[in-house]
Order: sequence, then C-alpha cells, then structure tokens
Amino acid sequence: MFRFFVLLFCLCIGFSSYARMNKVNNELLADLKELSSAKMQGRKTGSSGSHKAAQYIIDRYTDIKLKSLTTEYRQTFDYKSGFWSIKKGENIVGVLLSDNPNANYIAITAHYDHLGHSGSKIYYGADDNASGVAAMINIAKNLKTQNLKHHYIFIATDAEETGLYGAKAFLNSNLIDTTKIVLNINLDMLAVAPRQKQLYAFSSKTMKPYKALIEQKNNTTMTQFISSNRKMNIKLKTQKVDWRNASDHAIFRKHHIPFIYFCVGTHKYYHTTKDKFENISPKYYVASVKHIYQTILSLDTIQL
Ligand SMILES: [Zn+2]
Repeated sequence: MFRFFVLLFCLCIGFSSYARMNKVNNELLADLKELSSAKMQGRKTGSSGSHKAAQYIIDRYTDIKLKSLTTEYRQTFDYKSGFWSIKKGENIVGVLLSDNPNANYIAITAHYDHLGHSGSKIYYGADDNASGVAAMINIAKNLKTQNLKHHYIFIATDAEETGLYGAKAFLNSNLIDTTKIVLNINLDMLAVAPRQKQLYAFSSKTMKPYKALIEQKNNTTMTQFISSNRKMNIKLKTQKVDWRNASDHAIFRKHHIPFIYFCVGTHKYYHTTKDKFENISPKYYVASVKHIYQTILSLDTIQL
C-alpha cells in the first residue's frame, strides 16, 4: 500500500510539473502568435500595429512585475531617417534586480519592429522577430523565480530593421550605468528549424571559455557556438550577410561589450509575407528557448 501511495505521489508531482511546463510553453507560443497576428500589421516602427505590439509587451512586463525605469517601461527616442527627416521609435525596457546591489548587468535584447505591410500584404514577422520577443518574455518570467547573481535588463528594441536605432538609443541613454553591462544576449529569429536543427550562438571572442557551457544538444535542437574571430558570412539568396553586424548585438560589440547572438540563420521565409505563425517549428522553438534559458542560468553563476 505504501508503495502505491509513493507511486501516486510521484505521479502527482510529475504531472503538476508537466502541467506547469506545458502552461509556460503554451504562453511562449501564445505570445509569439499574438505578436505576429494580423492586428499587429507587421509592427513597422511608428505605425499603429507597432504601438499595439509595444502595449502587449508592456502588459506582459507588468504581469511579470519587472521594474520600470521610465513611465510604463517606455524609452522613446528620435532617429534620423534619410537626410532630413527625424522619426520616433520606442524601446520597451524592464529590469529584474539581484539582491546584490553591486551586481553587474546582463542585457537581453530582442527587436519587436518588423517591415509592416504593403496594402493587404502583411509581413507578419513571426520568426523575425516575434520569436525573440516571446522568448525574452518567457526567460524574464522564469528568471524571476531564481536567486540571481546579476541584474537583468530586458530591452524590446524598436527600429532595428532600419538601422539598429533602438539599440543605439539604449546604449546612448543613461537609463542604467552601461559600463556595468558585462554581457548582451541578443535574440533574433529562433523559431524556424534549420535542417540540422542547429541553434547558432554567434559570440564575441571573449565568450570562448564558455563554449562547452553554451553548446547543448538534445533530439530536437543543438546549440552550436561560433566565435566572431572567424569572419562569418551566411548566404542569403545572392547576397551574403555579415553576422557580426546582422542585429542589435552589433551595437553592443561597438561598445566593447561581450555578446551572444542566438539565431537560426536565414531561411526561405526571411523577410517575406510567409514568415508567419503557421510556418514556425513549435517543438524546436520551445526546446531552443529552454537551451537559451539554461545557458543564462549557468552564466549567471559566473563572475563575467
Ligand atoms: Zn530580425
């Protein structure tokens, strides 16, 4: 009889952690789906769709109870577009503080802007980059339950597609002492599985000692460390893309801040109207976000 109760107890514990995991995974996919839905109209900087996406991220930060450094997490900024015109962008910035007031910062970035729409043709940007933003929200929620050695700052950047302006505006601001940022983790395109199921961790040379810690593998996904001292180009149709400058981590790199850029590389849906929720790989995405979270937890224990 005792054995029966032990078995029953184990089954109940197993089921409740399974149920919790399922809930978290469902939330992750629901965030991605909502951010890439038709009502967000492709999230072009300054558009009404972009404002809806910003509000959605604010609501999620509020649920998680991230600290705000501004009014409603909003960091608005101006940027030059062409010769004459000045445009407005808006980063959404939330903070999770360690109990140690002298801790350094890990900055997690994911751009939420995309290409917008042309008439009724919507560039949904499910992989690019609703996937990175949903992952960042999921990671923030999970980190909130941990005893952390670093402070964390989560920056949903705007105006990335037009020139990494959100990341520039954040690093030129005084929202926090940016000299205390010891690592940038940039999430941009995580949800369309490459053929070999790789998740690339394109990293600054300074992260080389942590290669073994960053590389993880299971049946669904395989994180592969690539150091930026190899000049890495990936083929994109006929052009080649320099990964070092491909997304917001490039600005952290210019400020000599170590970085890890997690991404799937490019694929046939990239910057097309087919980059939509129906074309992502949910199982691969969930497994990849879990790898990234576990990497962050391991790095958190290290004096970076
Ligand atoms: Zn992107």
